[in-house]
Amino acid sequence: MSNTSYAPTPEWVARRDRLAYPTGNLIAGRWENGPDTLVVTSPIDGQPVTEVAAGDAATIDRAVAAARIAFEDGRWSGLPPSSRKEILIRWADLCHERREDLALLHALEMGKPAREARDVDMRAVVRTIRWFGEAIDKILDEIPNVPSDVVALIQREPAGVVGAVVPWNFPLTMAAWKVAPALAAGCTVVLKPAEQSPLSALLLAELGQQAGLPDGVLNVVNGLGHVAGRALGEHPDVDVVTFTGSTAVGRKFLEYSANSNIKRVWLELGGKGANVVFPDADLDKAASTAAWSIFYNAGQMCTAGSRLLVHESIHDVIVEKVMAIAAGMQPANPLAEDAPLGAVVSAQHMGNVHRMLEAGVKESGELISGGEPVLTETGGSYYPPTIVDGVRPDSLLAQEELFGPVLAVTTFSDEDEALTLANGTPYGLASAVWTNDLSRAHRFSRRLKMGVVWVNCYEEGDLTVPFGGVKQSGFGRDKSLHALDKFFDIKTTWMELGDK
Ligand code: NAD
Repeated sequence: MSNTSYAPTPEWVARRDRLAYPTGNLIAGRWENGPDTLVVTSPIDGQPVTEVAAGDAATIDRAVAAARIAFEDGRWSGLPPSSRKEILIRWADLCHERREDLALLHALEMGKPAREARDVDMRAVVRTIRWFGEAIDKILDEIPNVPSDVVALIQREPAGVVGAVVPWNFPLTMAAWKVAPALAAGCTVVLKPAEQSPLSALLLAELGQQAGLPDGVLNVVNGLGHVAGRALGEHPDVDVVTFTGSTAVGRKFLEYSANSNIKRVWLELGGKGANVVFPDADLDKAASTAAWSIFYNAGQMCTAGSRLLVHESIHDVIVEKVMAIAAGMQPANPLAEDAPLGAVVSAQHMGNVHRMLEAGVKESGELISGGEPVLTETGGSYYPPTIVDGVRPDSLLAQEELFGPVLAVTTFSDEDEALTLANGTPYGLASAVWTNDLSRAHRFSRRLKMGVVWVNCYEEGDLTVPFGGVKQSGFGRDKSLHALDKFFDIKTTWMELGDK
């Protein structure tokens, strides 16, 4: 299949040509430039898209001050939940109306196909904002049964100022998973998008303003992680940090908290997901889902099924099927409506993925598909579906998160060995088991040390179910009503009624 057959679609190109890029930081309802700038480079062709304002510690300080004022004066936390709900739902509607612009910004800044960003990411963003808006006026406080001369109240109070630091791989979905429940709970927010993907976050915030979020309730500061991200993590007036990103940076946020005000830190970190396939599974579905779970979004997913653990008796048939599917999932220009895969986020990241692959293959395994950048003549960063067979479980490719479209295949001979392999990494985010044996499905999924387990599927779920990891994949949950727990303080009030 020729990659060059995927031409950019005229509608996406025309939309790009007329789109005005948002470029400032949003603080206290005003758009500001300076003190520095960040160049947004598109992985589509390696060319600059635009420059945005980049904040430093002083910028973060002003944004936190704006969020603090907006929190304490009750302009948001003091609203009845039903009023917050209306604004959030209006915001979701505006995001839906502008979904094509927001999707296009995803494609330009981080390289995923614009169609996919519109149909998958933007659907998730709109649903998330709407869901938390709709939920918030149904949350009730508690009155426990206590002695009759006492009244006790257990109340949820908004936790205060929230710092939200997010990655670039699902830039708006991750932002919405943090910002929507935080705002629904009545908190105010300073959002720090990834330096690779500020544009979609800025347009999201602009729509929040249009929906009626009061000034200072949602602030956005772009900037480098070790400058703006760090300043937010260390800030003494931030009550909660909610972070999605790498395990290495998550570790730093724990240090920032320990070295400042012991703020609460919630971490959604890396993963090394596995598809565990038993011989009694639907092998066609298992193979196509396993391929999709690692190659989708060019493998840049915390949940990516980067390991295929397959029973030795079905190894050949599964690998053959996965290779056939991989052959049809080649990268192409993200502005082509039918692009099966887009670009990797940046040349630098693609270089890291490639170097890790080379080091991994030296250690163990045989490269049987992909393994070299493609479409190099475009100037963009394109990496094909890559498969390494016979990977040793203790080696780099089985243990480390490459965050690219690289699948490591390992065989097992029985259920116990499969479980040891599946659980045998420092991560515990998500994995799937493929079997038609109901007892094994239950037994195996109970013993998987993961925050999320899928049976005969991958990456499925909706907003009613929590998402998050165990072990070094972090703690705390996004999505579902449990996400709200991160942004509430639980207050106990014990009232003695006294003698009449
Ligand atoms: P990253 O950790 O490099 O960056 C994430 C965010 O942290 C960015 O906004 C960045 O600017 C900021 N940051 C970087 N260095 C910082 C520092 N020293 N102090 C404070 N902030 C800093 O991650 P990434 O490359 O953007 O994203 C990829 C990682 O995210 C992968 O490890 C992936 O598994 C993880 N991820 C996890 C989930 C999940 O829900 N568990 C979801 C998506 C991505």
